Amino acid sequence: MKVKRFIQGALRQLETRIVERHDSGSALVLLASALPVFLLLFGLQAVGCCWAQVRALYNPHWLWPSLWLQGALILWLSGMAVVAWRDRRLTAQRPWFVQMALIPSILGLTLLSIAHGLKDTPMDQVLLAQFVFARALFTLRALRWSLLLALLTILLSEWLMATGRLPYAPLLAMPIYTGGDLHPWWALWVRVVFDSGALPVSGALFFLAGTLHRHRLALEALVRTDMLTGLANRREFMTRLEREAHRQARSGRPLSVVMFDVDHFKRVNDTWGHPAGDEVLARVGEILRSHTREQVDTAARYGGEEFVLLLPETDLSGAQHVAEKISARLREHAFIVNGQTFQVTQSVGIAQVVEGDTGWALKVADRNLYQAKRDGRDRIVASVAFANAGVHA
Ligand code: GH3
Ligand code: MG
Ligand code: MG
Repeated sequence: MKVKRFIQGALRQLETRIVERHDSGSALVLLASALPVFLLLFGLQAVGCCWAQVRALYNPHWLWPSLWLQGALILWLSGMAVVAWRDRRLTAQRPWFVQMALIPSILGLTLLSIAHGLKDTPMDQVLLAQFVFARALFTLRALRWSLLLALLTILLSEWLMATGRLPYAPLLAMPIYTGGDLHPWWALWVRVVFDSGALPVSGALFFLAGTLHRHRLALEALVRTDMLTGLANRREFMTRLEREAHRQARSGRPLSVVMFDVDHFKRVNDTWGHPAGDEVLARVGEILRSHTREQVDTAARYGGEEFVLLLPETDLSGAQHVAEKISARLREHAFIVNGQTFQVTQSVGIAQVVEGDTGWALKVADRNLYQAKRDGRDRIVASVAFANAGVHA
């Protein structure tokens, strides 16, 4: 369990870094993914070269310079990683720092890929994994120099090889794949390098797909929710109203719409201030939520100080009963501002949807609401909304 929680925590951290895209944090993640790859390639080459037989597989001109260069690169990137770790919570953008980590990692890996043979070894997987990580962590703008340099390096090497100026896989005495049996050293090398490229890139793609999915769900919830009250917003209410109305037309079971409008709300704002007005709206939202069935009904904020309820399987008297309880609850609530208390009431218009006609039901509920206002506020007016017919009290 502890391990699972640790992994989940680490993945959340990674996700935060990717979403926030603060330069130091992103550079740290990039270096944490690049350094092991460089260490692995360096380690394989250094260990292999302890045996004369393996040493003979490498081009003697490039064997030691390449090890020195890799060592220097690892030292440089380790230094960058230490700085990035120290500044990991820094939110300021540091484009130069990013370039100093990005360009050596991507260019270094590109050169190593070319040196081992880019086209027939798993080095292309390793390079791809780095591109995926880098793209997840940085904007395309931040990546442009390293990508451009990598592309130019690959094109230049292709041209040098095509014109016979550079052998294919110049670091090796002979390319890994020669058409014959794979040398046992290369069989091991290919397996290790393949896993270090293919596994992280698959993991990264799975992780990014999961992140994308989670963020889409969060955004969708945000699009459907009213920020102040946490209730459904008007758009979500209309969607659910249409859905329920279709069901009502098929089943013939009752469906009611209840519209609330806070009385003299402008006065509340003017007298007690806008924050107090907001508090009233939030409280109305809470009351609506606590008086409706969670999975069945929909309570929504329809506009400024107007709210609606969608009550499936509920007829006019049922809806009226719910509205009375809600109005009573609001009426008795004492709001306190600067030690002074005030109370708020609301007017309610109810309509029952008939034959799935939502437009008409909303019109009737609205008309009833204004009838309640005209009759003196703090009251409920209800009627069935007959499709394309008059209002029946
Ligand atoms: P009536 O009893 O006839 O409904 O009068 P009223 O004052 O409630 O209605 P009116 O439509 O004149 O005023 C509604 C006010 O609601 C005006 C607007 O500033 C306020 N309002 C709308 N949205 C918000 C909000 O999110 N927060 C706050 N504090 N006030 C809001
Ligand atoms: Mg209003
Ligand atoms: Mg009002």
